[in-house]
Amino acid sequence: NGFVELGLAPELIQAVADLGYTQPTAVQQRVIPLALPTHDPSHHGYNDLMVSSQTGSGKTAAFLLPVLHTLIQQQADAANREREEYERACADAAAKGEPAPKRHKRKDPTNPRNFKAAVPGALVLCPTRELAQQVAHDAIELVKHCRGLRIANVVGGMPYQLQIAKLQNAGLVVATPGRLLDLQRSMQIKLDQVQFLVVDEADRMLDLGFTDDLAEINALTANRRQTMMFSATFAPRIQQLAMRVMHDNGSQVK
Ligand code: AMP
Repeated sequence: NGFVELGLAPELIQAVADLGYTQPTAVQQRVIPLALPTHDPSHHGYNDLMVSSQTGSGKTAAFLLPVLHTLIQQQADAANREREEYERACADAAAKGEPAPKRHKRKDPTNPRNFKAAVPGALVLCPTRELAQQVAHDAIELVKHCRGLRIANVVGGMPYQLQIAKLQNAGLVVATPGRLLDLQRSMQIKLDQVQFLVVDEADRMLDLGFTDDLAEINALTANRRQTMMFSATFAPRIQQLAMRVMHDNGSQVK
């Protein structure tokens, strides 16, 4: 399986195999190695990318796989740290002849008393509800072997309550800009922990009048580490958008 050489997490390799993908497509072959973490501090540890790609090229998995890979890695690191801390606390207690400490339980997220705004680590922006639903669907397929990594879809024209419930604990949010900003303004979601921002079909995003929304989301996610823009064309207005949202002006991948 040609995905193994890309160094992706085993859970993701299994998911692509389940989907019947045997070889990465051309855009996946180019983008995935560039999008995975680098060890170059001048790039915040990640490259910003501007990618010209058509629908049908496999572009969705090209951005989802590296983002999901890093989220999985971060989750594993956090779980290891938590386990090490607990083991240290147990050893300390044993040395003092005290009983082992209790492991703190996670709060039940369905209890309204435990409500917290969602704080996703990754955000994919799509110009239309149909595209956002398709991308979220693909992401759900790709994380089916990952425990505890949740995907939420935030689009206009759907009941708020359902989306808000699903947002809790979502690691990756796939959204259209308008509804996302509605939820941000009503404090259901906080965007300041977003590390990875993907703008899919950037040209259609501008055609549909999302320029101001993109500027706002750009500012709200100013702490992010990586931005990837996908577009069918590199027209001057797309280049201008890239100049505004990319930290390092993007490695261009055609
Ligand atoms: P996209 O360009 O992301 O809309 O993807 C187009 C179609 O290609 C989707 O139906 C994907 O499920 C499929 N696809 C994506 N990557 C691969 C791959 N490596 N091998 C076979 N099919 C793929």
